[in-house]
Amino acid sequence: MKILSINAGSSSLKFTLFELPKTDAIASGVFEKIGLKDSFYTIKYDGEKTRKEVYLKDHSVAVECLMKDLVDMHIVSSLAEIEGVGHRILHGGAEFTKPVVLSEDVIERISKYNELGPLHNPANLLGVKAFMKALPGVINVGVFDTGFHQTMDEEHFLYPVPYEWYTNYGVRKYGFHGTSHRFVYGEICKKLENEELKVITCHIGNGASLCAIDEGKVIDTSMGFTPLAGVMMGTRCGDIDPSILEYVCNKTGKTISEVTNDLNKKSGFLGISEISSDARDVENAAMEGNKMAILAENMYAQKIANYIAVYNNMLNGADAIVFTAGVGENSARMRKMVIDRVKSLGVKLDDNLNNVRGEYQKISSEDSTIAVYVLPTNEELLIAQDTLQLKREMGD
Ligand code: AMP
Repeated sequence: MKILSINAGSSSLKFTLFELPKTDAIASGVFEKIGLKDSFYTIKYDGEKTRKEVYLKDHSVAVECLMKDLVDMHIVSSLAEIEGVGHRILHGGAEFTKPVVLSEDVIERISKYNELGPLHNPANLLGVKAFMKALPGVINVGVFDTGFHQTMDEEHFLYPVPYEWYTNYGVRKYGFHGTSHRFVYGEICKKLENEELKVITCHIGNGASLCAIDEGKVIDTSMGFTPLAGVMMGTRCGDIDPSILEYVCNKTGKTISEVTNDLNKKSGFLGISEISSDARDVENAAMEGNKMAILAENMYAQKIANYIAVYNNMLNGADAIVFTAGVGENSARMRKMVIDRVKSLGVKLDDNLNNVRGEYQKISSEDSTIAVYVLPTNEELLIAQDTLQLKREMGD
């Protein structure tokens, strides 16, 4: 059964086509600079990458191009083969705890959360509308980044601020990267043939978050009301003293929005290293002895290690620590730096096993108190699988 998995951004649209239950993608691609004169798209299929420069006025035009090329490139013999479309949606508030079949009515309900994810949610919904138009009658399913985390208890998702901020304005921890944490947790449970594991999942990419999961229930996660919270990231600061905001506004004459933008876009690896937000660039500079790159790496590793220690405590002893996403899957060096900083827990890596990139592997030593794994994430696949499952449940 062919299912499309979609991630629509404000000026981009990524797609992956699966033929479930096979887990390898048949085709994938990205439409970029939607709405701009120099828009283009690339499609990967059958070992080849095709690039086309076409003016993509809006998301609907991008989806029309995709539909045409899927047929013209013989990726599908007709559009009727596409039996479902799954969409990544950033924010479903506390209301959308699970994937949902999308209708005009449901889209309206999701739009209520646009103000909590203003950069992503409206764009995600533009993608949904474009596919509803292009493939009428085909099921569209929304899978929320926030969904998995909604099993958190109040004592973990509330901030110690006036309670009415929560009741009146929804100020609480929502958590993000939920689809990735859920995928990785599900996979490690399958691999270890145990559904009751206590796992610390470390999604460490350009954005980064950790999650403490016990028997499929999220106990806590490091991102918060927005994806700015938690560990330091490529360009985001992670947890800082909130008083810095007013102080820097007063010192610089910048508005709250401008300083918040600095915390989102000019901080983290980029802010400290002043070299790059990209972990590879910082790693290369650190290996050449650049002091600020070394400092940035040390700060990053320490902050991740601190969350691991706290989550191990919350889980009353984790069964496994799993590294995923760009840095987590690929950087043996960063994994080692992190695990070296949780030595007091008795966690140890096997350096030979840790020398792995982008594939599932146990990387801890035999005498490690907690088993450590690398496990590649695949949010696109989980979105497609969720779509198929809902399609079946609906008897569609
Ligand atoms: P993601 O957001 O999951 O796509 O991850 C992107 C991040 O992963 C970037 O900071 C990349 O520099 C980093 N990354 C990818 N490959 C490597 C690698 N081989 N070593 C270190 N970092 C990597």
